Amino acid sequence: MSKIKEDVIILGGGPAGLLTSYYLKSFGVDALVIEKGKIGQAWREMRDRMVMLSPAVASHDMTSLSFENPIWNFVKLSGPFATKEEFIEYLDKFVKKNKVRVSQGNEVTYVTSNPEGFEVGTNNNSTYVAKVVVVATGVAGNACLPDIPGMKGNKRVVHARNYKGFEAYREKKVLIVGAGNSGAELAVELSGISKVTLVNKHKLKYFSKTNNLSHIRGLSESLLKELIKFKIINLKERVELETIEKGKVSFSDATIDNFDEIIFATGYCANLPKFIDMKVKIAKNGYPNLSATCESVSRKSLYFTGPLAHNSGLCAFIHCFRPIVEPMALDIADKLGH
Ligand SMILES: Cc1cc2nc3c(=O)[nH]c(=O)nc-3n(C[C@H](O)[C@H](O)[C@H](O)COP(=O)(O)OP(=O)(O)OC[C@H]3O[C@@H](n4cnc5c(N)ncnc54)[C@H](O)[C@@H]3O)c2cc1C
Repeated sequence: MSKIKEDVIILGGGPAGLLTSYYLKSFGVDALVIEKGKIGQAWREMRDRMVMLSPAVASHDMTSLSFENPIWNFVKLSGPFATKEEFIEYLDKFVKKNKVRVSQGNEVTYVTSNPEGFEVGTNNNSTYVAKVVVVATGVAGNACLPDIPGMKGNKRVVHARNYKGFEAYREKKVLIVGAGNSGAELAVELSGISKVTLVNKHKLKYFSKTNNLSHIRGLSESLLKELIKFKIINLKERVELETIEKGKVSFSDATIDNFDEIIFATGYCANLPKFIDMKVKIAKNGYPNLSATCESVSRKSLYFTGPLAHNSGLCAFIHCFRPIVEPMALDIADKLGH
């Protein structure tokens, strides 16, 4: 079977991959984005009615992919924070307007070295050859679950990533583990229809006190505080789970309780995508070791962007990785002689 030749292949059609393609195009490089689902698939899989945490207003735009493409020029926003649905509409329109080349429904299954650079294989039996590969597959596929005895195969345990809506939890006793923004949002959403316990191994941290964007914010902060005060949500602070047996949970404060459902809102782990069939140097925190322009220090012409470029001190949010994409694209264009 013939191999499709490309200068640059970008793996993943989420915000980071699409933005990479946009900047490459501005430097004269027409890259191909390969996406296993639809454009912005990781966002499509998040729960309905989710509202973004990053504001999207002219004075404080942390959501648009680039300042030349502000989200409000593409979508009629319903408030200062875009909904998941509005953000997906933005991504679709960004692709159309900027003529980003995306091969959708095409899952990358391997990336290996090849005399011309890299070979990329996909599940629809296509084989590509590229001089440069940019990995932008995000971290949403790496849900982090702690290793607690009784977790494995336990049907009551689910990661927040797989929470699809409150109906399945109606009138149930629910334990939510982890009180970051996801845990707080779920606790608030479920508190009217389920009996919620929220457990966190540290004291809860609120944005209004810390000014840290990753701490509990906005409506979640005020509602959570109120619901805890009313004892509608049962809060266990500085407490950890020790064992789980079906729904029976033993906590580090020597209490035991029974739950119908246990939701782990415990975030996402660093993980080199399994499809990378090459030796790539990884830092202690699990993320690839990268140069200032996001190139792997151990494999030339292999770049990582988005949350995967975390080792250069970035957070997973768009406003954190947005500034590193243009210099990376310029470096790639230089390498290709554009
Ligand atoms: C619950 C939650 C809420 C968040 N809220 C915000 C927020 O409010 N604001 C903000 O800025 N950020 C938020 N984020 C952070 C989020 O990581 C970034 O907004 C952004 O989505 C990262 O972009 P990305 O393109 O690197 O990764 P992703 O958006 O995860 O995109 C990666 C893409 O790669 C595709 N892919 C994966 N594997 C393969 C493969 N083998 N082959 C082909 N394609 C593949 C996926 O389908 C996906 O479309 C949130 C994250 C989570 C989990």
